[in-house]
Amino acid sequence: MSYIAPAGTPLGLADLAAGLHAGLFRDDADALAAKLACMTATARCWLTVSGRAAITTALRAMRGSADEERVEVVVPGYTCYSVAAAVVRAGLRPRVCDIDPETLDYDGNALRELDTTRVLAIASSNLYGIPNDLTALELYAAKRDIYLIDDAAQALGATFAGRPVGGFGEAGILSFEKGKNITTMEGGAIVTRNGMLAQRLDAAHAALPKSSAASAVRAWLKLPVYAAFFRPSLYGLICRLPFLGLGKTVYDPTFELARYPRALAGLALHLSGRLEALSGRRNANAADMRTALEDLPGVKLVRPHPLAAPAYTRLPCLLEAPAHRARILAALDRAGIGASASYPRALCDVPEVRAVLPPSDRELSGARFVAASILTLPIHPLCPANLAERVRDIIQRELSRG
Ligand SMILES: *Cc1c(COP(=O)(O)O)cnc(C)c1O
Repeated sequence: MSYIAPAGTPLGLADLAAGLHAGLFRDDADALAAKLACMTATARCWLTVSGRAAITTALRAMRGSADEERVEVVVPGYTCYSVAAAVVRAGLRPRVCDIDPETLDYDGNALRELDTTRVLAIASSNLYGIPNDLTALELYAAKRDIYLIDDAAQALGATFAGRPVGGFGEAGILSFEKGKNITTMEGGAIVTRNGMLAQRLDAAHAALPKSSAASAVRAWLKLPVYAAFFRPSLYGLICRLPFLGLGKTVYDPTFELARYPRALAGLALHLSGRLEALSGRRNANAADMRTALEDLPGVKLVRPHPLAAPAYTRLPCLLEAPAHRARILAALDRAGIGASASYPRALCDVPEVRAVLPPSDRELSGARFVAASILTLPIHPLCPANLAERVRDIIQRELSRG
């Protein structure tokens, strides 16, 4: 049965051939770094094996220049678990701040009430490609003399107030994992325009081990498999194989810290040239999905900020009655539609994170509501034209069953 994957980047034979040729015969790492710095309107870029490794490396560089007391990093109450894991991996303590379910951005009141005296940095999330209010966050961080890490792992190509996401604050983070705006199976980057931090990042990046040749070979073996099975005609064959762990979210601070495999840089560079077209398709599909769901009682769309131009990776919506979510997901699954409940918990409810949080950070109602009620829908370029209507009909039918 045909099955639409939750998110991803279609890779054609021509993409793979161009990327493999470059990986074998050229070293595109410097050209890729220059391109990513340009795309985020920053000055410098360092490539890492993952977005997590990029966050940990950025934090190590920030730590070096800051006051000893500043050992906390504020992350949104609902974001990728890897962000909290990367903070722990850097030897720092995560703080979590509540979010506003209407926007998935930080809750302004919660931010204002936060005691930042021991905070080194705060991270944005820009989840699903929807930019946070990054101007406000930049101002917030500057006022308190803390670093802003603009996490564009899901938002490469998005802009806020005309500026590229990833280019706000002192450092931006990118990811090339599966399900991000472009993918080479793995990979990440740190970008900055701050000259002082750049010096420390040079040192922190130089201290990372080179990625092993085996890791590049592994990624290159997986890429054609990913390219083939991402297609709806084949995805149905693999999406239920439990050992692939597709869509599973785990908290793991023991991830590899290394540089990006140079043999993947050519593919990433090639795909960065396709990003605008990919984002155009995803955003058009997201607009159709929004139109189909906007008047559906019981479903609330996440509202992008008026100054934001998203680069959607999935379309998030919230169910007013979270108790119906499991049944809706099951019905969509039966229809071959890879919807997802995204991250299963608020970060304050991930046991390993909760254990290190101060009591003030342990009850986040906005983040908990989002974790319980979010549904993300596929909008990638291989979604069929009538998907939005099919999704609406299925959700409507399941909600009317009460
Ligand atoms: C994926 C992701 C990361 C981590 O990137 P990896 O390459 O998977 O380590 C960080 N932040 C957000 C918001 C993400 O979606």
